[in-house]
Amino acid sequence: MEKDRKLIIAGNWKMNKTVAEARDLAKGLRMELANIKDIDVVVCPAFTAIGEVSKEIIESDIRLGAQNMSEQGGGAYTGEISALMLKEFIVRYVILGHSERRQFQNESDELINKKVIAAHGASMKPILCVGETLEQREAGEMENVISTQVKGCLAGLSNSQMEETIIAYEPVWAIGTGKTATSEQAQEVHAFIRAQVVDLFDEATARRVRIQYGGSVKPGNARELMGQPDVDGALVGGASLEVRSFSDIVKNCLN
Ligand code: PEP
Repeated sequence: MEKDRKLIIAGNWKMNKTVAEARDLAKGLRMELANIKDIDVVVCPAFTAIGEVSKEIIESDIRLGAQNMSEQGGGAYTGEISALMLKEFIVRYVILGHSERRQFQNESDELINKKVIAAHGASMKPILCVGETLEQREAGEMENVISTQVKGCLAGLSNSQMEETIIAYEPVWAIGTGKTATSEQAQEVHAFIRAQVVDLFDEATARRVRIQYGGSVKPGNARELMGQPDVDGALVGGASLEVRSFSDIVKNCLN
């Protein structure tokens, strides 16, 4: 599976795991994946477990991510968490614009764009999620939806910031449903996203941007998805909650 771009596989633990459970999961992953250097492995626990997970993986090659952050630098924003606060725990990645936040917290492309810019301001790498619903796909609106999200959320970035941004294509109909996009469907949209990045930035930048696929990724389908030319990793929900399934996904994607 030779590619110029290094694969990046991230686990989104969502609103799961107590601190003790998160520590156990992180420890198990450290034992299984500590020395994997050919793939960037990232875990994204809930905020409450970030400190403990950070301690558990700090000496390994596993990197820490957050599931969200504020677009604000600090101040009177009750319930919010800033990039600076995350950086204290050596958080290097942050998932932004996940479809669940777009749906349940009404996050707009404009707000997500501010968060992407704030993440770069703090030298954190955003994992920007984009994706269409089933209704949008069936109505033939997929390209329009993805293009609007990509353009809206990436506005104002420099080329070098773009290169450090990961895009996660997550068809909403495939998240937590057990329905995976076929590898051909994934490739088609990933190539479309890369073409959007060429339009917005340039060819060289777009070639360096990593585009993850997310939506019911499992040990059994990960390798085939990663074999597609424009699929550069995975954002994994359900299957990231257990040591065996997440570490098998990573190992199955090694050369
Ligand atoms: C996700 O929510 O980012 C996700 C991809 O979930 P799942 O793997 O459970 O479909």
